[in-house]
Amino acid sequence: MTPIHVAKFGGTSMADADAIQACVQVVEQTQNPTLVVVSACAGVTNLLIRLADSQTSVEKQRLFTEIKDKHNGIARATTAAEVCLQQLDELHQQLWQVVDSEIPSSLAERARRRDQIVSFGERCSSLLFSFFWRHHHDDASVVDARSFLQTNDRYGQAEPDFVQTANLCKALGERLQAGEKLVTQGFIGTCPQGYTTTLGRGGSDYSAALFAAALQAERLNIWTDVAGIYTTDPRVCDDARPLQEISFAEAAELATFGAKVLHPKSLKPAIEHGIDVFVGHSRKPQLGGTLVSAKPQQRPSIRAIALRRNQTLLTVNSVDMLHATGFLARLFDILARYDISVDLVTTSEVSIALTLDEEGSQANGQSLLPAAMLEELSAFAKVNIEQGLTLVAVIGNDIGHFGDISPKVLESASPATIRMICQGASRHNLCFLVADDDADNIVKKLHAKL
Ligand code: ASP
Ligand code: MG
Repeated sequence: MTPIHVAKFGGTSMADADAIQACVQVVEQTQNPTLVVVSACAGVTNLLIRLADSQTSVEKQRLFTEIKDKHNGIARATTAAEVCLQQLDELHQQLWQVVDSEIPSSLAERARRRDQIVSFGERCSSLLFSFFWRHHHDDASVVDARSFLQTNDRYGQAEPDFVQTANLCKALGERLQAGEKLVTQGFIGTCPQGYTTTLGRGGSDYSAALFAAALQAERLNIWTDVAGIYTTDPRVCDDARPLQEISFAEAAELATFGAKVLHPKSLKPAIEHGIDVFVGHSRKPQLGGTLVSAKPQQRPSIRAIALRRNQTLLTVNSVDMLHATGFLARLFDILARYDISVDLVTTSEVSIALTLDEEGSQANGQSLLPAAMLEELSAFAKVNIEQGLTLVAVIGNDIGHFGDISPKVLESASPATIRMICQGASRHNLCFLVADDDADNIVKKLHAKL
């Protein structure tokens, strides 16, 4: 049996007919049976979210037409355009039926309706992909990810049920081995109640990784619009360069600390199942890319610098903390009760500073700083909130033993203020918090020094 590959194409790779044709070329280059996983065409998910929330019929019509025109424009470039347009039309009609329904008042029902609407982005793009693939294989077809990817019912941020998913994927593996050309959707799944769910923004990578793990694939190829993972954000530093290889641990840190190339959750299934991940440029595959694996050939002390903007820093100060036990437990209990996810933590004897994880905390559309939570905290401590901060993370190996790096961080940051610094919990990163306005400059200096 030839090992299975999973190839995931992101929104920009699905942006128009030329882009999709380039993706098909990429898939045609592989000898391995390949499950194709696609994102919605660039921009469509954003339009669908607005569509789900729009109140007036004029706005609904406008957004719906924009989405429909985009898909139909791409469909016209396929050789079987008539059939493709007809099948798209069925999907668009189903979409309109949901959109045309009233927005429910309960938060949970609204989230469920939104997931249903948003799923049409991937459902349409996968159909388009299959029609371009048919130029090479007239039997290329779409499989509905919702028949395989089982999740819980946390709409908008659903968690997969891996055991069930793996079970359901067995038949899919057999079909791939038998030579079928199959494309499916990223980002979407089904919950036990039978409703459509989504895995959170950018979740197609995660879907692809889950499919790869469930199919016991040898390789997960993430095709995007950059030639791999860079030493830092190329929009910030002109001299950022792509990395040829990187370890899972380093990539996980990079993804968590702001590098947008891989979805943070997507690495877990790959790590657990020992699946190598390759990141490359779908329109320029000849540029090569980055291989993420358990055993990269080299493990340099410093591999890359990541940035994450719009950070919120919460400082909690209480004299009760002096020689007290259970203070942190009490604090974190409150945060947990309000579903607030914490990123970085530093403490001194009577105060604790922490940054809040916006994405993890706001999954249900709730506030990052619920008033009731602040009130509870204020009952026993002085609470201070700072915003407009950027987190800079230096990622590598054995950072704790690399005496050279701290002075370079301090030199690069000077004369700006470092608001918080964290190092020691992981050998793979050192991170610090600075004002948004200072961040780019500091990263440029630091990147040059390292
Ligand atoms: N289409 C979804 C989004 O834009 C999922 C993805 O692209 O990965 O978030
Ligand atoms: Mg995307």
